[in-house]
Amino acid sequence: MATVNENYLSLQGSYLFSTIAKKVREYEETHPDANIIRLGIGDVTKPLVPAVIDALHKAVDEMSSALTFHGYAPDLGYDFLRSKIAENDFKARGIDISSDEIFVSDGAKSDTSNIQEIFAADSKVAVCDPVYPVYVDSNVMAGRAGEFDSDLMAYKRLIYMPCTKENDFVPELPKETPDLIYLCFPNNPTGMAITKERLQGFVDYALKHNAVILYDSAYEAYISDPSLPHSIYECAGAKECAIEFRSFSKNAGFTGLRLGFTVVPKDLKLSGTSLHSLWARRHGTKFNGAPYIVQRAGEAVYSPEGKEQVKKQVLDYLKNASFLKAGLEKAGFTVFGGENSPYIWLKTPNDMTSWDFFDLLLSKVNIVGTPGSGFGRSGEGYFRLTAFNTFENSALAIERIKAASLL
Ligand code: PLP
Repeated sequence: MATVNENYLSLQGSYLFSTIAKKVREYEETHPDANIIRLGIGDVTKPLVPAVIDALHKAVDEMSSALTFHGYAPDLGYDFLRSKIAENDFKARGIDISSDEIFVSDGAKSDTSNIQEIFAADSKVAVCDPVYPVYVDSNVMAGRAGEFDSDLMAYKRLIYMPCTKENDFVPELPKETPDLIYLCFPNNPTGMAITKERLQGFVDYALKHNAVILYDSAYEAYISDPSLPHSIYECAGAKECAIEFRSFSKNAGFTGLRLGFTVVPKDLKLSGTSLHSLWARRHGTKFNGAPYIVQRAGEAVYSPEGKEQVKKQVLDYLKNASFLKAGLEKAGFTVFGGENSPYIWLKTPNDMTSWDFFDLLLSKVNIVGTPGSGFGRSGEGYFRLTAFNTFENSALAIERIKAASLL
């Protein structure tokens, strides 16, 4: 008799974005003239840059001739892309990562959720709170999270590391020792970055306790403070204790194309077993390679024109972020993030709950954001806005917020 994987029954419903959509739909039905500004979206809105579009066209043409057609891509990615990544993202920053330590994939969501498969089923997992939900849910599916405690809003076997304004939204080193530590900086949802010194603290801790850090750097392109680390491998010893995830989604607008990569250094071993070999085995067994045309598009991101064009896009989003941040501060809000990230994390006024503030913002100024409590217990009392809408809409949102008395 077939039975289901009961771990899936422990998953909490993913109500956040469906509840938001439902509330917005209901509001639109009763207020058909409302011009709603959506600042809740985590998806990019700008089109792919010309260098990427040219590369896509060229690659599509190649697929039309038997001489230049490409079938299955190499499991781990084409060398033309892996070498560009190693050169530009790592060597150019003085980081010693070689192209064969890079595993090309269809995005960071797949990799950050699949990586747990190469670790023991009873591994103790630590996550930030608030958190990008994929890290939690993939471990729930694998049976590592234990039961959900609905009073505590937490899984009993997970270690939650609160990120609050008291610790600058960078967690303290956990007291209970985990085997796996998920970190994401610049962070989704708080928009806050980590200093090299604090990151080194995590690396030293992982080395001391034989833990592995799973470092999600999907938003590294938004780092504008030159003192901040773009990669965990800027920290001494990280190649012996960390795996890093990158994405082409937010730096180059590939959310619909799908491309990312994971770095598993060859020096990373657990009891003598190479995680590089395990991940290569897993990748080769369960993934048949990112499409040739998409990898060519990824290569174009590293061309001189491509680099310039994607940099401009990121700067445009960052301009929205700093405009939103400054405008909200002028309107009297306490605001975090938005400097090295497309995300703004604002404190709700007068100790309102995140959902009450959602309702207030929607009804009073027709702006949609994301309640912080949807990302975890420590997100309660916070609210996420994103810089991915147009500058005009971001400016209009601030105009409305300033004109309304929300405090
Ligand atoms: N990691 C974080 C922290 C994210 O916020 C996102 C997407 O929003 C992803 C990973 C997913 O990236 P990708 O589009 O490459 O799957």
